[in-house]
Amino acid sequence: MEKKVALIVDDDIVNQKLLNTILSDLGYSTVIVDNGEEGVSCYRKKTKLDIILLDMHMPYLNGLDAVRIIRDIEIKENRKHIPVIAVTAFSMEGNKETCISAGCDDYISKPYEREIIIKMVNKYNYLTT
Ligand SMILES: [Mg+2]
Repeated sequence: MEKKVALIVDDDIVNQKLLNTILSDLGYSTVIVDNGEEGVSCYRKKTKLDIILLDMHMPYLNGLDAVRIIRDIEIKENRKHIPVIAVTAFSMEGNKETCISAGCDDYISKPYEREIIIKMVNKYNYLTT
């Protein structure tokens, strides 16, 4: 069976490695990029993707703008809905709502436990093919 693919969008190499390890352990192959612009570009190229883990604070294009563009492409090109999980260090109240209203399906705040990521990925696993 073809492996599922997770796109990891984060400018922090430590988070990249951590997410990569967790997703790999869950049986995903991963694509890792450093900012929202590269994340959108990867999505635009229709690279086979099953889930996106999206940091919010990044150079060039932040997570909120990136997910807005991704949802825009999704609608315009009538693409299948891809789960986008915000992974963010914001701790302001209402931040979850900000991420959700921008187009994220769910939200994880940093620092996070490995178990939280696993639960979240498994929660959206049914949406992926
Ligand atoms: Mg960041």
